[in-house]
Amino acid sequence: MPKERLYLFDTTLRDGAQTTGVDFSLEDKRVIVRTLDELGIDYIEGGYPGANATDTELFSTEQQLASATFTAFGMTKRAGRSLANDPGFQATLEAKAGAICLVAKAWDYHVRVALGVSNEENLEGVQQSVLAIRQSAGGREAMIDCEHFFDGYQSNRAYALAVARAAFTAGARWVVLCDTNGGTLPHEIAAIVAEVSKQVPGTHLGIHTHNDTENAVANALAAVRAGARQIQGALNGLGERCGNANLTSIIPTLLLKREFADAFEIGVTPERLRRLTQASRVLDEILNRAPNRHAPYVGEAAFATKAGIHASAILKEPATYEHVPPESVGNRRRVLVSDQAGKSNLIYELERLGIPLDKGDERISRLLEEVKSREALGYAYEAAEASFELLARRLLGEVPQFFKVDSFRVMVEKRHNALGRLVTVSEATVKVFVAGGEEPLWSVAEGNGPVHALDQALRKDLGRYQNSIKDVELVDYKVRILTGGTEAVTRVLVESRDKGTGERWFTIGVSSNIVDASFEALIDSITYKLLKAGAEGSLRQVLEA
Ligand SMILES: [Zn+2]
Repeated sequence: MPKERLYLFDTTLRDGAQTTGVDFSLEDKRVIVRTLDELGIDYIEGGYPGANATDTELFSTEQQLASATFTAFGMTKRAGRSLANDPGFQATLEAKAGAICLVAKAWDYHVRVALGVSNEENLEGVQQSVLAIRQSAGGREAMIDCEHFFDGYQSNRAYALAVARAAFTAGARWVVLCDTNGGTLPHEIAAIVAEVSKQVPGTHLGIHTHNDTENAVANALAAVRAGARQIQGALNGLGERCGNANLTSIIPTLLLKREFADAFEIGVTPERLRRLTQASRVLDEILNRAPNRHAPYVGEAAFATKAGIHASAILKEPATYEHVPPESVGNRRRVLVSDQAGKSNLIYELERLGIPLDKGDERISRLLEEVKSREALGYAYEAAEASFELLARRLLGEVPQFFKVDSFRVMVEKRHNALGRLVTVSEATVKVFVAGGEEPLWSVAEGNGPVHALDQALRKDLGRYQNSIKDVELVDYKVRILTGGTEAVTRVLVESRDKGTGERWFTIGVSSNIVDASFEALIDSITYKLLKAGAEGSLRQVLEA
């Protein structure tokens, strides 16, 4: 049986951009558009031309896209004005876009209260706007986002349906049913979409859901089962309040779950699906957010197994504990190194890091002992893979000593500044020997806290290695106080990033002193970077001399 085509509409750059704290630059938007196009999304909504300078600029030139239709967002014509006399509508029409999506009120209560016009005027506005788009240069596709459709349907069914019908009969390619407040549940969505599809064919119906009851994805899938053939959503579920329907979860579900895969075809092919994890990371990178470790399909923990018995089973037969193969979405399996780790976990992790050791190698037992005794002290390597790799490679004698910190001092001072304001200043001094150098290097730096000052001082001057670490930056810093035995122990987790390559890594430090623990994690971070950069050098000569 031939498969039916299902269309994907991404609104990360429009609805997603309405999130607090999200402000995409023009270049950010272009990168995201390219990423979505490469993934195989059908419609990419770029923004709202005329509403702000960035979006106006974005829509002033033609986008060179492989397969996606670039889409502009706008509003239907204002009541009481002619089309020519509505500057907002004209700005939307001028957008260089293959499709235009207009928001229209579908709830009579909103028509009355928010627009202050009659129900009939609102219907006329929808029809005239759709016609204007279809008659504009290039014969563009018109879409109508029926705002508050589901709430409107519950309150005045006949009117909500009249708005949908008006858009369709005027020639809208898509009539999109929006659960704007996000409160509708899957069985309600299914029932209503089934009813609407009796008046507007499902091949012209879209679904736009929000995650306020954590059902946005379920609602979108329910709508598809009830007949809708366009799904709107955002990458990583970005969006105001609790977010939009998460395309990053919807796409693999459509491709990898039998019911949907057998019935539908989408623009994302199984090959392109392998870019999904990467696409999700690109957005996090732009937003400067740490990726959600527990995100379905693409999260770092999505295919992570910890317990010993599960781990040995998963190594024999991955399907025993995985609902889909991690590679299919560009993710990977992780068998966590933890205090429950058996030899098989360890061998698997080492293999993945490119350190093949034979089962019988006695170094495996030594590493396992080392990991266990460190975990007893408070280390947790499952969250700090870079520190784990350093530990393993050190045991194998593969980590040169690039530098050695001889001493450091941190000072925190609260005082009045020149303006008479009370400020807290942190200053750090680090004395370090660098491989190949005879004399110690001294660096002093200020920071907005003791750890930041230490970090700044440490990376201020590492002599011959300066070039290798110039793009490294501290992204995140987490402190956890572990209560054990007689005194509290501090565990610090540092996330670092290379601005050049985008690579991220985690390192760990443990001590009864928070500054010591932080410094250990910072040193691991820089050492890891130097190791990966293939930096050379050993301090041995310096120290022995
Ligand atoms: Zn929305």
